Amino acid sequence: MSSGADAGGPAGDANGASEAAADVLILGASFTGIELLYQLRRRPEGRALQVTIVDRHRRHGYLPLVHERLCGRLGPGESELDTAAAIDRDADARFIEGEIVGLDPEAKEVSLADGRRLRGRFVVVALGSILEPPAAIAGREALAIYKLADEQRAAAGELDALLRGDGDGDAPVLTVIGGGISGVELAGELAHLAKTRPEGWRAPRVVLVHGGERLLPTFAARVAARTRRYLEAQGVELRLGARVVAAEEGRVRVRGRDGEEVWLRSDRSYWSGGIRPAPVLDALGLPRTAAGWLEVGPTLQCFPTARPSLPDIFAGGDAARIVGADGEWPTMQRAIECLWQADVLARNILALAAEPAGYPSGVPPLEPHRLRRDFFHGISLGGRSLVVYGPLMLDVAGLNTWFRRFLMRSYFRRYTG
Ligand SMILES: Cc1cc2nc3c(=O)[nH]c(=O)nc-3n(C[C@H](O)[C@H](O)[C@H](O)COP(=O)(O)OP(=O)(O)OC[C@H]3O[C@@H](n4cnc5c(N)ncnc54)[C@H](O)[C@@H]3O)c2cc1C
Repeated sequence: MSSGADAGGPAGDANGASEAAADVLILGASFTGIELLYQLRRRPEGRALQVTIVDRHRRHGYLPLVHERLCGRLGPGESELDTAAAIDRDADARFIEGEIVGLDPEAKEVSLADGRRLRGRFVVVALGSILEPPAAIAGREALAIYKLADEQRAAAGELDALLRGDGDGDAPVLTVIGGGISGVELAGELAHLAKTRPEGWRAPRVVLVHGGERLLPTFAARVAARTRRYLEAQGVELRLGARVVAAEEGRVRVRGRDGEEVWLRSDRSYWSGGIRPAPVLDALGLPRTAAGWLEVGPTLQCFPTARPSLPDIFAGGDAARIVGADGEWPTMQRAIECLWQADVLARNILALAAEPAGYPSGVPPLEPHRLRRDFFHGISLGGRSLVVYGPLMLDVAGLNTWFRRFLMRSYFRRYTG
């Protein structure tokens, strides 16, 4: 397929620098974006496509083990993918570092903050999600977030500085907000510093604040109960049925079950209370759900209906919510879901790419994504860990730690050869 088949040739005008059009323009180079390149290249008909992938970050820290990265159990070098280099190894793919600020869906043209414009015959939005505390928390800027590459590095550096100092003699207090899987993993890992920690660090006191009455609300009750037991055994102080309503440097204000509010010392507080759509999704001119995610059909097309007919624009990964005839699908917003969706995206792009430009005989039927409601979870809790699938639970600390690192290395090898 020739580059820019029906994308109108190079983009750009008097104000924006021109860039050659790609066959496939992928926005976002995290789990979904880089896996889509991999899935295209696995298939003979996908090997000739010119692929451009844009992201503001050249490297990606491995999110499933971010708690180990923050606490120094995993070093930055061994737990980051050099995404830009992995993409640029492919002679027909290129990585562009840039801040995406807009999309013209009709022209299939993307604008970057520096004025560059990029086009593709196919555009795939894989711009993910962000960790962001809700506006209802006064002073929420004081809370640490740790999802994107720069946030992870900043959070790890701050924790190092805090725990390395002699301080006032008291153990530094770290508060984790949110008792879902990310929150319990981070709290467990921070508590584990009492046992094993980088040289020169002090052990912190760890508090976990969670709005519900039980941890891990989306898991079976026995998984939540075991998690609670393991966290408490490692010294995590649980505040259940409580919410952080305000934050300042050095403290958080917590509202308890009875509505009473108290300021508590917290030398660093981490937001683990849920993700939100990436802000740029506001600027793409694509259909969205009430919560602000990109609304796609089961084929992962942003415009799955006959009218308006823009069949070449897709979205996947955390950014997309699939809305079918029965409403919004309960997809998982997990890394594994991104990999499954990238496979569907590749198949559908290749089905469309096999057609003449403009689809004179109509847009061919595409493959729908398959809903899987659950998958295995490895839940690391500092010195303990669980493998969970629905109500099944295996208590295998050493094995799970080893296996999750093995998965990380296999994941990196997938893209680096
Ligand atoms: C703390 C935490 C722990 C997790 N642990 C697990 C786990 O153990 N197992 C699991 O399966 N899943 C886990 N997840 C979920 C998993 O990480 C996500 O499902 C996955 O990261 C989503 O990938 P994505 O490709 O959709 O986009 P994201 O990973 O969200 O990445 C989006 C990309 O878009 C880029 N971007 C965004 N806006 C712009 C812009 N305007 N311009 C340029 N670039 C932009 C970002 O730089 C980023 O690279 C975890 C998530 C978090 C937050």
